[in-house]
Amino acid sequence: MLAGLRKLEDILQRGSLCGKRVIVRADLNIPVMTSGGQTARDTSRLAQLRPSLLALREAGARVAILSHFGRPKGRGKDLSLAPVAALLGEILQLDISFAPDCIGAAAEEKIAALEEGGIVVLENTRFHQGEKANDKGFARALAALGDIFVNDAFSVSHRNHASTEGITHYLPSCAGFALDGELAILHRLLDDPEKPVMALCGGAKIGSKLPLLRHLTRRVDILALAGGIAHVFIAARGQEIGQSLCEHDLIGEARALMEETAKSGCVLLLPQDVRDNRGASYPAAAIPSHCAARDIGEKAAAAFCEAMDKAQTLIWNGPLGAFEMPPSDEGTKRVARHAAARARAVRLKAIAGGGETAAALNSAGVYGDFTHVSTGGGAFLRWLQDEHMPVLDALRRKHGGDEEEAAANALARA
Ligand code: ADP
Ligand code: MG
Repeated sequence: MLAGLRKLEDILQRGSLCGKRVIVRADLNIPVMTSGGQTARDTSRLAQLRPSLLALREAGARVAILSHFGRPKGRGKDLSLAPVAALLGEILQLDISFAPDCIGAAAEEKIAALEEGGIVVLENTRFHQGEKANDKGFARALAALGDIFVNDAFSVSHRNHASTEGITHYLPSCAGFALDGELAILHRLLDDPEKPVMALCGGAKIGSKLPLLRHLTRRVDILALAGGIAHVFIAARGQEIGQSLCEHDLIGEARALMEETAKSGCVLLLPQDVRDNRGASYPAAAIPSHCAARDIGEKAAAAFCEAMDKAQTLIWNGPLGAFEMPPSDEGTKRVARHAAARARAVRLKAIAGGGETAAALNSAGVYGDFTHVSTGGGAFLRWLQDEHMPVLDALRRKHGGDEEEAAANALARA
């Protein structure tokens, strides 16, 4: 476990935040789902902000919330945070105002108009190019709006942007309740996990996940692969994968990883069989050239479940098939339900992370049975590889002693 975070909890205990301007980096980037011309928003992410926001409100702070929303190419009404601010107000049953920009006079005026305990959501940070570029001038403009910075968004902690990393250079900074809670759970479950540990990795982002696998083979006892990742390994064995999702330039890396795995004693499980988009199954060693594997087959699912029966801890990232399109959801659902049953019977610590992974667990109806589902996808992966992420390190007491004292004093003065 790394040195501790500076925590909002400690600051609230130490002194008064009454009347202080507190900038909270939240993740208001909630999924918007469209079906049959209707749009629906998945608001589960918003509820996690409740502890920090209510505590700051209670303390009489004036709170300005920062977040990005989607991937805007400029300023556009469709990616405005105004409707999300209204949703947040409904969920928390609070009056929450909105500022049409996240820097400058428009933001300043709205913050100045807040009563003690008041909350305002500032417009999408990505309407400014300086956000993703982590531009110093933009970070300073954000920092100028507050006295203290609270990061409460684990899911964006792998991105060094102005509202996550840049701003910490200009304001006393700490971790909010949700971020602190997420890290505490990940540390508790994964610093010294109960063995045997099984990792299950599927999904589509092959290029960004292969480096993670190398790290995992040294930490886990069983590594089971599915989805696009498995196809690269099947191809690396010299077998035909037909039209299946694959990144051919990574085949060499997959081969090296297989050799490493054999030496490290980690058991590598590849699917014995696969299914196409209509559910027809084929042995993985004999995928026809016209076929695209869209899911793992029945034998593979059974083998994954059997391996899970030997494990005490499961780390899962990435759906096992193209679960959004039935019947290619069968493999993922079957394995997810098996993991959930074992977790319910307290025989397995089941930990999952990833945007689509969480959605797949939800659609299998087992989200709540998992020991923990990380809010972060990319952030969860990054954290598994290396806990030293600049955004989180900025919230840590780096050397203790003097520096800690100085930070505490700065926060008390702020
Ligand atoms: P996460 O968001 O959980 O980290 P990824 O973004 O890496 O996961 O991948 C999720 C996507 O992978 C899903 O949209 C799913 O449809 C796709 N996928 C999984 N298996 C396959 C497959 N065999 N063929 C095509 N797409 C797949
Ligand atoms: Mg994804």
